[in-house]
Amino acid sequence: MIRAILLFMCFSTAPAQPCEWFLPIRAEDRRSWEAVRLSGIGEFGLPRRARPEVPAHLHTGVDILRPGENYRDEPVFPAAEGIVISLRSDGPFAQVIVEHRCPGGNTVWTVYEHLAGLAVTVGDTVSPHRPLGRFMNREELNRFGWQFDHLHFEILREKPRPLAPAPKTPLRLFTPYSLECFSAEDLHKYYFDPGEFLASRWKRLE
Ligand SMILES: [Zn+2]
Repeated sequence: MIRAILLFMCFSTAPAQPCEWFLPIRAEDRRSWEAVRLSGIGEFGLPRRARPEVPAHLHTGVDILRPGENYRDEPVFPAAEGIVISLRSDGPFAQVIVEHRCPGGNTVWTVYEHLAGLAVTVGDTVSPHRPLGRFMNREELNRFGWQFDHLHFEILREKPRPLAPAPKTPLRLFTPYSLECFSAEDLHKYYFDPGEFLASRWKRLE
């Protein structure tokens, strides 16, 4: 009985306050960076070499590895409450952008890429306790490539750039600055270091 009550309490978390921040992945403590493992080239600001159709650029987010061995339905969560402003659900670059209108006029945006199984749409208010979607499953990784076996996660200081929706991606209304940061100056103009940003928010709560 006590166990049932405890389980119930775990799953009926009170609604998050606006801009109360959490890790975007499952973890014992979602208010600590401790559980985060990045891919070998997943650090924020890491120089990325040019490849066909992509110029050399700095990595504008972090590549967070799957926390464990769940290759079926490993959830990805919004990092805070917010509103979905853009979404593409096609292929390995499936992406959700959330706008967070924080108190004091401090609006920031978060980007989640390489998602599958999207559970939200544009205009939805999202909670950090409900998944946006999930990491790709084994079958999707076999199809698209195992280089996508991570969550690309960004936090933006500037509003993403509006985009005219294309027929294949009608809800892709904004795009971040992922491929246009060529210097530290560009990077810090548009982006926060996600690890530093979250740590600073959690520190305020101590
Ligand atoms: Zn990345």
